[in-house]
Amino acid sequence: MVNKQVRDIVEEFMRYKKAKDWDEAFDIEEKYEDQPHGWIHWEGTDVCMEINCKCGCQFYINSSHAYHVKCPECGRVYSCNGHIELIELEEEPLQNVIKG
Ligand SMILES: [Zn+2]
Repeated sequence: MVNKQVRDIVEEFMRYKKAKDWDEAFDIEEKYEDQPHGWIHWEGTDVCMEINCKCGCQFYINSSHAYHVKCPECGRVYSCNGHIELIELEEEPLQNVIKG
């Protein structure tokens, strides 16, 4: 029974990261180092984001400075990882390609 409880706790931890504050969240967030990646600078950047909370609530935000989001149902606050995975494409899409 204890082993199952420990296993459930470990599975919960592995499934959902949790940090005390933004600094600790930054330390544990995926940064895709040594891989192609982007890093969103949230300031001055309007984002439309679909959020899926741990409680099951799904909501949308349209905002700038989206460093943190708060669930309207349960009140949980999340740090938004600005690091994003970049997947190289063999074929360039015909539209919505932003040239750097
Ligand atoms: Zn929630």
